[in-house]
Amino acid sequence: MTTNVTVAIVGRPNVGKSTLFNRLVGKKLAIVDDTPGVTRDRREGLGRIGDLTFTLVDTAGYEDANDNSLEARMRQQTEIAIADADVILFMFDARAGLTPTDEHFARLLRRASKDIHVVGNKAEGRAAEPGLLEAFNLGFGEPIPLSAEHGLGLADLYTVISQAVDRIDAEKDEAAAAAEAEFDFDMVQKPAVDVDVNEDEGEDQTGDTAPMRWDPNRYLNVAIVGRPNAGKSTLINRMVGEDRLLVGPEAGITRDSIMVPWEWQGRVINLVDTAGIRRKSRVQAKLEKLSVADSLRSIQYAEVVVLLLDATIPFEKQDLALADLVEREGRAMVIAINKWDLIEDKNAKLMELREECQRLLPQLRGIPLVTMSGLQGRNIDKLMKAIFEIERVWNVKIRTAKLNRWLFAMTEHHPPPAVSGRRLKLRYMTQAKTRPPSFIVFASRPDALPKAYQRYIVNGIRQDFNLPGTPIRLWVRGGK
Ligand code: GDP
Ligand code: GDP
Repeated sequence: MTTNVTVAIVGRPNVGKSTLFNRLVGKKLAIVDDTPGVTRDRREGLGRIGDLTFTLVDTAGYEDANDNSLEARMRQQTEIAIADADVILFMFDARAGLTPTDEHFARLLRRASKDIHVVGNKAEGRAAEPGLLEAFNLGFGEPIPLSAEHGLGLADLYTVISQAVDRIDAEKDEAAAAAEAEFDFDMVQKPAVDVDVNEDEGEDQTGDTAPMRWDPNRYLNVAIVGRPNAGKSTLINRMVGEDRLLVGPEAGITRDSIMVPWEWQGRVINLVDTAGIRRKSRVQAKLEKLSVADSLRSIQYAEVVVLLLDATIPFEKQDLALADLVEREGRAMVIAINKWDLIEDKNAKLMELREECQRLLPQLRGIPLVTMSGLQGRNIDKLMKAIFEIERVWNVKIRTAKLNRWLFAMTEHHPPPAVSGRRLKLRYMTQAKTRPPSFIVFASRPDALPKAYQRYIVNGIRQDFNLPGTPIRLWVRGGK
């Protein structure tokens, strides 16, 4: 059973998080993503217990390049877990018992309304019993005894994760019903933007995808990135209003980044910014350069990233580098063409921009472009609609049966090549996770499947299931 559930392991160093991660994901399946320039090693992979698969995140690897204090790391871990996970496994060392650090973690976690389970690791043998009893006091229910090293206690983990799967499925049905009742489908299904680079718009394919998980109360984290002078501060000021901004950045997520909470049509939007806003509000002379580390941090905390381009100098090298970063981080992206008020021949410019975007960012085919002016406050509503539409796409879940019918048609139309006389077979395909949409295809000889054919599949998914503006991941595996 492949599910759409994300499980995060949180806890102080040395309790055994990585040991559990490796046991559930297995070295072979671990997707390790090293991003140069930051001391970060994102460990996220397809976890498996018996027939149950889920996305597993080991939060231990998230570290702030600038602030390595335990406190900062704890905060980040919990924030990441809170943002990304459906189920949080809060691990402590049952042999050592609860430490003040564990208690502190518990306090941070308590604020999150998430499905949290306390896991007492190293619970083989009797030495763990006092620690497990103590952990009842944390108030997260009965602790699960586990030995990550010896593989004991996995049945209990199976139970809590599969319960979460059932719960989430039920919520999804409920949310879909509520969305149908309340939500303005007109807004989400049509391209809600001025320009859509996707020339051959095609029919509306949204019927092919399962209903999204829609929770109007959820925060949406949006980062606005772009070169210095693209107009980021002007836009953010427009959005939230000067006064609100001067009151000051509220919740700090790292020492250098802030979130500006703001409400738009009943949803809370956190505008994520690193350093930038604060620096600006002090009316400093502008001597900043594009800080890739700052942008990266904003991108990592956001679900949707707006890449703000200056219409008079669009698609510069730095813009492309940022687009690339967003793609690699797997975030949903909207491209906003700012300072549109300065453009005289808007039609000609638009054509030029479409062409450039197709050519320079082929990996993001069909990404929405929104023309706007932050200074005049024009088309901010269009930008917001595009943000919500792209978030929907990023969260799309395509049903396995549909996907396999589609795969069959794709391989019929254009079969995979033969390798040393034997035809490659693609046997089965499933969507492993959302945010961004990620697929696993099982092939008779995974290593031999050419990159070009993988691109054919990815481009096909994007087009046929109507997923512009989001990265799409494809993992090729053997077996099945
Ligand atoms: P992390 O820092 O939380 O990721 O912890 P690690 O996974 O690196 O584990 C820290 C130490 O605890 C290592 O020496 C592991 O071998 C050990 N360890 C992990 N799980 C268990 C367990 O179930 N029992 C015992 N006795 N030791 C364990
Ligand atoms: P940031 O460095 O990306 O935060 O850019 P700023 O918001 O500081 O803007 C840089 C300059 O561009 C300022 O002089 C703004 O007044 C100007 N600017 C920002 N948005 C627009 C716009 O939509 N139209 C025009 N004409 N100028 C803009």
